[in-house]
Amino acid sequence: MNDRPAGLAFICDPHGIIKTILMDEIGVRSLAVGQFIGRIADPGSRIKVLNFIADLRAKGAAVQWEVNILVDERTETIPFSGVSHKGCLMILGSRDVIDSLRMCDELIQIDPEPAALLRAAIQSHLESHESESLEQLSIYDQISRLNNELINLQRDLMKKNAELESLNRTIQMLASTDMLTGQNNRMGFFDKGEQQVAQAMRYHHPLSAMMFDVDKFKTINDTYGHSVGDKALAELAARCHSVLRKVDILGRYGGDEFAILLPETSSAGACVVAERMRQAVSQPMQIADQTLTVTISIGIAELDLKNGDLETLLQHADRALYAAKDAGRNCIFVDNGEGG
Ligand code: GH3
Ligand code: MG
Repeated sequence: MNDRPAGLAFICDPHGIIKTILMDEIGVRSLAVGQFIGRIADPGSRIKVLNFIADLRAKGAAVQWEVNILVDERTETIPFSGVSHKGCLMILGSRDVIDSLRMCDELIQIDPEPAALLRAAIQSHLESHESESLEQLSIYDQISRLNNELINLQRDLMKKNAELESLNRTIQMLASTDMLTGQNNRMGFFDKGEQQVAQAMRYHHPLSAMMFDVDKFKTINDTYGHSVGDKALAELAARCHSVLRKVDILGRYGGDEFAILLPETSSAGACVVAERMRQAVSQPMQIADQTLTVTISIGIAELDLKNGDLETLLQHADRALYAAKDAGRNCIFVDNGEGG
């Protein structure tokens, strides 16, 4: 059994500003010299602390006021007692009234006069409450303990919920992101794309799709190695992303093929964006001591606002992409909607 009484004791000025810390065997957060003692209490208990000080100053002593204080991020009810002596307040808090008396015995060694007064006040309080039924005291005690437990559980639950939400966001982000390029993967692209298509159909707003594929990418891999090929893909995706608007949706469709959705954009507008992208990509890249140039072929299609859907739109853009490949690569083709 630990022989030291578990509690805290300090001297305050009449306004509750802590002047000297005499003991701290509890580990109370924000117990510091110069601090207002209300700061060690749970926010809901601060008024009670003010009342405690007012009572203490008015009567010269206040005994066993149950105050909720913050101990290691948790709320705990600690009864406080104090006396006013020569313009200062000696205050102690302890979980157990017997410990309070033992603390007074220790405090008498440090500051005899107020400690003796405090001991007498606690002793007299104990005697006057002896008649109070022990059972009743224990029920109050239990209610207060359960209340604190509930407050702490609610606090823990809120913390856990916030952690869970953040974890879910991370999982969702990882599940929809392509790790090599940092852009949407196929799933992320389709999730966001379906919403855009539904919105365009609903409000009859134009929407275009682009499919593009790196020209002769196998040769890049064969010439410089797969790792340089990987970096070239990431660089190319970043360059494309940089010429797009925030609302445009870029996704890696698979391998060296990418897809883009351009809301509020006709195929003519998409051609302008595609040309900007083609130019940006074809600037030489510096990757691991190698300078290389990659080009892309681009196919464009516009959503049919009467009968369209995302899948058909992408099929049409893909059809135009193959026409661009057939035409010699590094160029842009627009689908005419008839497969011709
Ligand atoms: P083209 O498209 O012009 O017809 O020729 P291509 O050589 O690019 O042919 P294709 O698009 O059919 O092949 C794509 C190649 O891209 C096949 C594969 O070796 C390579 N590739 C696919 N995914 C990756 C990747 O994640 N990293 C690297 N380094 N290469 C990849
Ligand atoms: Mg290719």
